[in-house]
Amino acid sequence: MGCSNDDNDNVDSNSIANQANNKQPLGSSANDLLSDTNFSSITVEIVSVEGFEPTAAALSGFTQFLEDRLFKPEGITITQRSVVSSGKAPFSIEEIVEIENDTRTLFNEEDDIAVYIYFADGSREDDNGDEQITLGSAYLNTSIVIYEDTLRNLTTNFNAPSLSTIENATLNHEFVHLLGLVNIGTPLQSDHEDEEESNHCNVVGCLMQSAIQFGNGVMGINNVPELDPLCIADLQANGGK
Ligand SMILES: [Zn+2]
Ligand SMILES: [Zn+2]
Repeated sequence: MGCSNDDNDNVDSNSIANQANNKQPLGSSANDLLSDTNFSSITVEIVSVEGFEPTAAALSGFTQFLEDRLFKPEGITITQRSVVSSGKAPFSIEEIVEIENDTRTLFNEEDDIAVYIYFADGSREDDNGDEQITLGSAYLNTSIVIYEDTLRNLTTNFNAPSLSTIENATLNHEFVHLLGLVNIGTPLQSDHEDEEESNHCNVVGCLMQSAIQFGNGVMGINNVPELDPLCIADLQANGGK
């Protein structure tokens, strides 16, 4: 997977190395995100298409979730920026990677680890009707996409939670995939991986149940689901709080 988004010959080798560190497989930076062993702070770069920015309430809940789980004594910083539409909706993950290459500006620097979250103005291209509507995807070690247009469409259902609740649940769920759950970079401390839905939790009501990343799974929830004790034990054993 290439990381060149332009033909700039003047990019110094250090910054190319830094970018490579942020383009690794999902789950491979779990310990770096959870613990302060290699990184004592984290910066989350949120890039939204104009008009598809997340609600303040969702970002507040998401920030609190990170404070609760990550051991980052030098702090957690969220940055926000809006960009014009790519015009590529609906999106394949390959297209999302191209958009990231064009819009991501923050990479790991010294003691600070960087995460990129894109709020997209469209859906995932392999969504099929009401069966499986994907809300978000964690696709690299520090990269997430939230299909914000899909989230907003869901809120028109009569039993839908508020937009901020769906956003917050999706942000938390996808970020926990970056943290290596379930069994994708953070070792299992107990047998709680779903046998049918790999990399998800089989505890009813847990944030990491596979249903939470799909539209039908968030219908009827009133609050953002929390991690169950088995998921938290995995995170703590890999350096988290
Ligand atoms: Zn998931
Ligand atoms: Zn769980």
